[in-house]
Amino acid sequence: MFFLAPCMNPTIFPILLVVFYAIWQSGDRMDGCCPSWNWERRHALLNADSTVRPASLTNITECVQFASAHNKRITVLGSGHSWADITVPADKKNGRGSTDGSSTGTSNSAVSNGSIVLCMRCYSGLVGVDRDKKQVTVLGGTTLAQLITILDEYDLALDIFPSVNEQTIAGAISSGTHGTGVTHGNMATLVQSIELVTADGTVLTASRSSNADVLYGATIGMGLFGIITKVTLQATEKFNVYEKKILISSDELYANLEGIVGSAEYVKLWHNEGTGQVCVFTSSRTTEPVRDNRNRVVQDIGLRIFEGLIYLVSFYPRSAKPVMYFLIHYLDALKVGERVSTWHDVFNIPHHIPVHPETEYAVPLANATAALRFVAQLVEEKEIGTNYISETRFVGADEFWLSNDYGTPTCHITLLLYNQEDVFQSYMQAVSDGLVTMGARPHWGKMSKMTEATLKHLYPKWDDFVALKRRLDPSGRFCNSQAQQAFDESNIC
Ligand SMILES: Cc1cc2nc3c(=O)[nH]c(=O)nc-3n(C[C@H](O)[C@H](O)[C@H](O)COP(=O)(O)OP(=O)(O)OC[C@H]3O[C@@H](n4cnc5c(N)ncnc54)[C@H](O)[C@@H]3O)c2cc1C
Repeated sequence: MFFLAPCMNPTIFPILLVVFYAIWQSGDRMDGCCPSWNWERRHALLNADSTVRPASLTNITECVQFASAHNKRITVLGSGHSWADITVPADKKNGRGSTDGSSTGTSNSAVSNGSIVLCMRCYSGLVGVDRDKKQVTVLGGTTLAQLITILDEYDLALDIFPSVNEQTIAGAISSGTHGTGVTHGNMATLVQSIELVTADGTVLTASRSSNADVLYGATIGMGLFGIITKVTLQATEKFNVYEKKILISSDELYANLEGIVGSAEYVKLWHNEGTGQVCVFTSSRTTEPVRDNRNRVVQDIGLRIFEGLIYLVSFYPRSAKPVMYFLIHYLDALKVGERVSTWHDVFNIPHHIPVHPETEYAVPLANATAALRFVAQLVEEKEIGTNYISETRFVGADEFWLSNDYGTPTCHITLLLYNQEDVFQSYMQAVSDGLVTMGARPHWGKMSKMTEATLKHLYPKWDDFVALKRRLDPSGRFCNSQAQQAFDESNIC
């Protein structure tokens, strides 16, 4: 046993712990074009009779015709970066989400003879660029990372971007993925047109002037209307961003939230409810050249240490407060400061993110302060050891029927815990129960247990969405596990 002694050294032990954990987490979940698990490894995704990796539009229409002829369901898969089981074939929920293999809802679909998973991630690339209109058309499986490269070549950029770039463009818009900035909408608002292969194999193009109901219904459609094969996006001139970070208390935030939200084009908050510390990021376009002295290697090491510490904290939730206080103050990624960088560098977090469960609610902006106060009070009352950084972002109103931001600017509150599954489940339920009274809509790509009885009152266009689903997919060919829960009353899945 003497050779184990060095490992017990108080300096070496935490390093070994972090290294061991990193190796444990790094197994490949991507099988070629197909993610076999979702990002969080909660849901197994390839649990179907067959898996198809289309290389052409003909492959896709043939696959749909085959499914129709053999009475099979189709689940469309992007990069598997959703926490919600919107990529889990209907009736096939398994993995950590439900170890007994039970489904989340009762199938009402006429489709009953097994299922096909259609992996779209390799159906990717540039279709064309309209330089005058600054519009770019890409195939549905193009990842956001590939999109950045394409846009860069044409000196273009997007006004809005989420925190990571692994998602496919069709997957991102399908769940209402957003960035931050109340003068901008979510990513779907950039969409000028989509090409959609519907349940009978028809190739349909929908834009603001033609098939507009399909555009507004099916763009944030959670894969329920068919396969989005092409997306045309409104881009803009490439730009740099000046970003500034300051640390304030939650009381200062509550007293001045409106002013903070309006203080820059892009505003986001990283906070920890337990400590009451809030890191405010304000960013604006600038003509200044890049000046960013952050060291990527140092930041990555910092994040590994962060992960090691929050892992330890998960066993001692009472230590969360002092440890998170320390982390917020001293982690380089969060340190108060400023920089100028490219638009995608500022919007993306290009680092290893510790794998965790996550939920998110969009409350009308007018209720943002009340909602943030409610969550902080809940954490205090229930003595939840919040061992992570929560993120709050702001999104402008839009017209997409099942958008979290339909008709109102919103404050998106993202909540997460690390390695505390049971606590997270009850925390999520309590947050959901409280925030729904403030009009909160759950992010379609994140964890939520809301069913149709609640959801339908949150979306004025709910019935139109259901009617469009019945029209374009009457047999429920494109249904997933999450849809069985979310539409449990209207019998569309
Ligand atoms: C680390 C991480 C960071 C994230 N950051 C953000 C963020 O900053 N902002 C935010 O809003 N969200 C964020 N998300 C959530 C994420 O953007 C969404 O869940 C997104 O839908 C994932 O895209 P995907 O390509 O992985 O799609 P998948 O998860 O594979 O699929 C999502 C939905 O899209 C459908 N779909 C996929 N491709 C197609 C297609 N071609 N045609 C029709 N339907 C299709 C699927 O059927 C499914 O319903 C993050 C997720 C992770 C894991």
